[in-house]
Amino acid sequence: MSYPRDSQNGAIVYRYSVSPNTIYLNITNRCRNSCSFCLKNYCSGISGYRLWLEQEPTIKDAWDSLNAELKDSDKEIVFCGFGEPTVRLDMVLELTRMIKEIYPYLHLRLNTDGLAQLQHVNRKVTKELKEAGMNSISISLNAETQEKYNALCKPSLIGAYEAVLDFTKECKDIFSHVRLSVVNVSDINIQKCKKIADKLDCEFLIR
Ligand code: SF4
Repeated sequence: MSYPRDSQNGAIVYRYSVSPNTIYLNITNRCRNSCSFCLKNYCSGISGYRLWLEQEPTIKDAWDSLNAELKDSDKEIVFCGFGEPTVRLDMVLELTRMIKEIYPYLHLRLNTDGLAQLQHVNRKVTKELKEAGMNSISISLNAETQEKYNALCKPSLIGAYEAVLDFTKECKDIFSHVRLSVVNVSDINIQKCKKIADKLDCEFLIR
C-alpha cells in the first residue's frame, strides 16, 4: 500500500474520511500494551497516511503540523495515533493547553489505554488532563475479564485491567464524556463489556 502523505517520516496529523471535521494527532509509536489486533501489526498507516513515525515529533513539530492542517470547519482534535499518547503524557498536557488557549472552541479528546495512572503512580493524571483543558476521554476496555484482557492486550504493566477500570472511574468523577471501547474480536463477549460500561455509566463503542 502506498501512503502519499508524509511518507518520509509519518504523519503527525491525519484525518479519517468519516470524520471530516476532526484532526487526529499521532505523537508516538510506543505503547504499554501489545494488542494482537493493533494496526501496527498489519500496516504502516491508515486513510492514506503513513503513521509509523521514524522519529517522534517535538511539541513544536506537532503544533506546526496542527496549525498547517487546521481549517475553519474543524471541530475536534483527537490524541490518537499508532501508539499510546499518554506514553508522552507531558506532551499531551502541553499541547492540550496550547490548543485550548488559541482555539478554545475545539473539542479535545484523548483516546487512551487507560494506563497512564498505573505508570505515573505519583501523579494525578485525570486531574492534570482536566486542568489542561481536555474535554473527553475514550478508554480501551477491550475485554470483560482480566484474563481475556491479558491474553488479548499483553500489557507490560502488572495490574493493567484493574487499572483501566480504576482510571475509568476517576475519569467519570471529573469528565462529563467518558467512553469505553472494545474491538469486535471473536473471544470477547461484547454484551458483557457493554454491561461494564453501563455499570460505570460510560458511553460504549465497538471499534
Ligand atoms: S493499546 Fe492501542 S496502540 Fe497500544 S498496542 Fe493496543 S491497539 Fe496498539
